Amino acid sequence: MEPLTSEVLARRISAVKEQLASASEGRYPPPRIIAVTKTHPVDWILPLEGLGIREIGENRVQEVREKAPALDHRFSIHLIGRLQTNKVKYIMHDVSLIQSLDRMDLAREINRQAEKNDVVMPCLVQVSPVGEEQKGGILEEDLRPFLHEVSALPGLHVCGLMAVMPAMPVCSELDHLFEKMRRLFDALRLEAIPGIEMNELSMGMSGDYVLAARHGATMVRVGSALFGPRETTHGL
Ligand SMILES: *Cc1c(COP(=O)(O)O)cnc(C)c1O
Repeated sequence: MEPLTSEVLARRISAVKEQLASASEGRYPPPRIIAVTKTHPVDWILPLEGLGIREIGENRVQEVREKAPALDHRFSIHLIGRLQTNKVKYIMHDVSLIQSLDRMDLAREINRQAEKNDVVMPCLVQVSPVGEEQKGGILEEDLRPFLHEVSALPGLHVCGLMAVMPAMPVCSELDHLFEKMRRLFDALRLEAIPGIEMNELSMGMSGDYVLAARHGATMVRVGSALFGPRETTHGL
């Protein structure tokens, strides 16, 4: 791949934006790009600001802590990876959205740390689109009881859903999973559970953001399509 200059990054961002706009056209507003910057240095992140991207995704607490001082609150950092309960306390001031809320003990700990720091932490509930627990995310049948329980916690604010799709080529099965997520999101919005908002639907990555846009994602999490392939030891 060509070396990553600001020009290259600018060109890739425009290309992704154009695809998102044409895929969502007529049905939904185009999703925002969350640049997934895990494993990548701060030097690659800072130029994003001038290119109109202010939200980044990181999946490891340690990496968030290392990068946050140099980023100096110029970006909203989204935590997109599995979050260990004992690490919540380290990210309360650096992260502006936890996208991977997937269990009640994590919700309770976020609530506890939020109250301690006198903040409210925005969260997305991670849903398993395939209905397999090990892929990460809450099963659809457990989602409503979970939302009701979480809605009682004042320190966190659920504002939508997140899904990690199974790694598969773009096909009708994948298309169906995106559509299923959007329907679930719409249904929950109509149900209007008190204390729960349904404004954000985070789905789609470098391989499938076009499908995600077609089915009404409000944000797509794009890494390698912008920065090139990552070293193999990190990531999903
Ligand atoms: C790494 C990661 C992404 C981005 O993956 P790409 O295929 O590089 O775009 C998106 N979402 C999550 C949860 C990730 O861990």
